[in-house]
Amino acid sequence: MQTKLNIAIAGCGIAGLAAAALLAQQGHNIHLYDQFDQPEPVGSGLVIQPVGQVVMQVAGALPEALAHGNKIKHLTGHTSPANKLVLKAGYGDGFGLAIHRASLFAALFRAAEQAGVTVIPNARIRATRLAGNGRHLHTQSGENEDPFDLIIDATGAHSPLSPIVNQPLPFGALWATVDWPQDSPLPMNALSQKYRGSAIMAGVLPIGRLLDGPGSKAAIFWSLRHSDLPNWQQTPLDHWRDSVHRLWPEFAPFINQVGQHSDFTMARYSHGTLTNPVSSRLVHIGDAAHTASPQLGQGANMALLDAFALASAIAARADLVNALETYRMARRNHIRTYQAISRLFTPLYQSDSRVLPILRDHVLAPISGLGPMQKLLSRLVSGDLVPPVQAGLRWPGSGGSGV
Ligand SMILES: Cc1cc2nc3c(=O)[nH]c(=O)nc-3n(C[C@H](O)[C@H](O)[C@H](O)COP(=O)(O)OP(=O)(O)OC[C@H]3O[C@@H](n4cnc5c(N)ncnc54)[C@H](O)[C@@H]3O)c2cc1C
Repeated sequence: MQTKLNIAIAGCGIAGLAAAALLAQQGHNIHLYDQFDQPEPVGSGLVIQPVGQVVMQVAGALPEALAHGNKIKHLTGHTSPANKLVLKAGYGDGFGLAIHRASLFAALFRAAEQAGVTVIPNARIRATRLAGNGRHLHTQSGENEDPFDLIIDATGAHSPLSPIVNQPLPFGALWATVDWPQDSPLPMNALSQKYRGSAIMAGVLPIGRLLDGPGSKAAIFWSLRHSDLPNWQQTPLDHWRDSVHRLWPEFAPFINQVGQHSDFTMARYSHGTLTNPVSSRLVHIGDAAHTASPQLGQGANMALLDAFALASAIAARADLVNALETYRMARRNHIRTYQAISRLFTPLYQSDSRVLPILRDHVLAPISGLGPMQKLLSRLVSGDLVPPVQAGLRWPGSGGSGV
């Protein structure tokens, strides 16, 4: 598209920052709004899969993210007490980039800044209104005077603009960031998980260093039913730790660093997908368009892919209506596929089912160890089981080892 568009992006998270950087690089006029007064990310660590790394590279954020994050080569899961390996997925020639959210946010923020984007803070978006030749944005201080050519909703899972219906999941997880214990036998190049049935799960993700300090860190998590949170909060930490030590002795040096209940953040998960993320001069991207449990580790990736596809569609098509339709088609299959698989997989790891963990450990685990299944699993976690973008848009990555 030759015309310089006047674009408002609501939400300065992963999707919003990536879209801002990519569209500003094309010369569009970007107004990036967020409710925060100081830019700040929430949460612990996550994994940027190979396809997400490709987008980070194009946006100019990958070198800084690599400098802080940690490369992981495998995801592993063992049962307790048998210590049987029931999940092993590798990245082939590629890797997952495990990173603290603050480091990811900083890398994307700098890329957007370098592309000329300025953030408008303290702007709580409430609604939009279509006018003849554009769309207005409402914040707590009123409506903007001149309408925008396009509004991109990247306000995440609780978007005030998106008609998405999210189904809350019964299980979430407690997350915390701790030091990597020097004598830990756990591998620093893998996400390690431990399961008992599907109602109990713990994990350790080595996420590299924080922005403001040296030393390797880990994001740790403990799966928990929401309804069990008050009970957990009332149980003395030592009692809980004792039961966790029995489940997974190698987890002890990680959770022993956590001094009080409030050092953990309870993350809530939900599933939901918009059938059509596009309407007149408005498009929903990232978690505003699709939410899933983090079992497949794809949420941030999908946010990055949405941003890439949208920017590519706007560059490739002569008019906005066409560009938005191309965007919708470009992401449709990938989103549908990953959302469906995520729905299917989540209860294997987070549910009260007695049958599903037996199926997971005694049927799926042996099948997944076979050569062709290993390749399939590798593509699944890498994010390119199906092409990340379609509808004729060019994808710069070459699959699992795309960077
Ligand atoms: C515990 C946990 C672990 C995860 N692990 C992984 C993983 O390993 N790999 C992976 O790919 N994904 C993972 N995810 C998913 C991933 O974090 C999300 O999918 C991703 O953050 C979505 O990005 P987003 O930009 O759409 O939304 P967000 O990152 O949530 O950003 C939304 C932004 O919008 C702003 N905002 C919200 N409402 C308003 C408003 N009304 N007005 C103005 N601003 C507003 C917020 O302040 C925020 O800055 C995980 C998620 C959780 C909870």
